[in-house]
Amino acid sequence: MKFYSTNNKTLRVPFEDAVFNSMPVDKGLYLPEHIPQLDPDFIANIENYSLQDIAFRVASALLEDEIPAEALRQLSDAAINFDAPVVPLDAETAVLELFHGPSLAFKDFGARFMSRIMGYYLRNGQQQLDVLVATSGDTGGAVALGFLGVPGTRVTILFPKGKVSPIQELQLVTNGQNIRAIEIDGTFDDCQVLVKQAFADQELNARLRLTSANSINIARLIPQTFYYFHAYAQVKRAGGKDIAFSVPSGNFGNIGAGLLAWKMGLPVKAFIAATNENDTVPRFLETGVYETRPSVQTYANAMDVGAPSNWVRIMDLFEGDLKSLREMVYARRFTDSETLEGMNELADRYNYVACPHTAIAWLAARQYRSENPGNYQTVFLSTAHPCKFPDVFPEALAAKIGTPDQVAGLAAREGRATKMAADFGAFKSFLLA
Ligand SMILES: *Cc1c(COP(=O)(O)O)cnc(C)c1O
Repeated sequence: MKFYSTNNKTLRVPFEDAVFNSMPVDKGLYLPEHIPQLDPDFIANIENYSLQDIAFRVASALLEDEIPAEALRQLSDAAINFDAPVVPLDAETAVLELFHGPSLAFKDFGARFMSRIMGYYLRNGQQQLDVLVATSGDTGGAVALGFLGVPGTRVTILFPKGKVSPIQELQLVTNGQNIRAIEIDGTFDDCQVLVKQAFADQELNARLRLTSANSINIARLIPQTFYYFHAYAQVKRAGGKDIAFSVPSGNFGNIGAGLLAWKMGLPVKAFIAATNENDTVPRFLETGVYETRPSVQTYANAMDVGAPSNWVRIMDLFEGDLKSLREMVYARRFTDSETLEGMNELADRYNYVACPHTAIAWLAARQYRSENPGNYQTVFLSTAHPCKFPDVFPEALAAKIGTPDQVAGLAAREGRATKMAADFGAFKSFLLA
């Protein structure tokens, strides 16, 4: 399987190049040159397979001529070593919990799979890979924990001082080994500028093998298809119904992976794109005009994206056809006060405490059902554990949030971050030291 650029269909590269370069030089995004169809027998019997089996089958369909089966099975088992349960709330509504990995967010799927793919290609003593990440919260933790202990890699994470939640900060600074954290006296944008400068710096590129762990990397997209199949398997096991998936969306990688799964043969009734007030996509589906805007800050801050980077992939999956896109994708936006109401209502009605991103997905699912009555299951995706966003919750809800094992021990561990001004000279010296 080769991968093409959304900006130039004649450009085809092997998977290894697509993984290490993240973005083609023409600034498009990589997609598989054809969409493989999963064996209908496999789909018909999918309830007999575990998440790990499903991950391997789906990854094989995309990568079998790129990575030998045995190696792919090993790395996929090592990456996807936690569950993604579908938890029923009532007869027609269930939540797909994607936060049982080490960083307590769905980004673990992408980061863990990508790190092990990179580790696989580095196994023959290639030059050490330096992964640079700027983070405003969830990405850094997933990447740090995803690459922790992966041979041949070294990760440097830049985060803005005082601007990530306490648990997020612990996930960044307590790792040691091949993970280094830098606390920048500045904003997330300052962190991002430093990383971009590093990628553009000739001397750094001559001395180090730099890569980004960017969310647009195709190796992060592929593993996000796994849990859509796994959710379908669980719903089927429980009696089976058509599924409408509701996905809390920012850069639209998660829902893009769902659409790829559907194109590979997964039966899906509809996809519901749920956003906060950063509503570029809901506006586009309403008006037919794609107009990006600067992002605005909301409670669901991992979705504060005004120009969703994965949208071009979705347009390509639909060959630019707005009509067929509208038939499959329904989109709604919600304000912060609606999000808060949604969190309260989920707790009152189902005794379920959800993070703000998850609450938005539930609100959109409910809206969809009110407009599309019928006998089907809505499955909304829970993208993070609520303990990662402590500031958002009213006290009564905060009191109900437990501390998962993944973070219970972190506070006792010694944290280490290098403190640095937002100064490229200092950052460059650090990297070269
Ligand atoms: C990253 C993130 C999202 C947005 O996912 P996209 O793939 O960018 O659409 C939603 N919720 C949480 C908790 C996240 O960390």
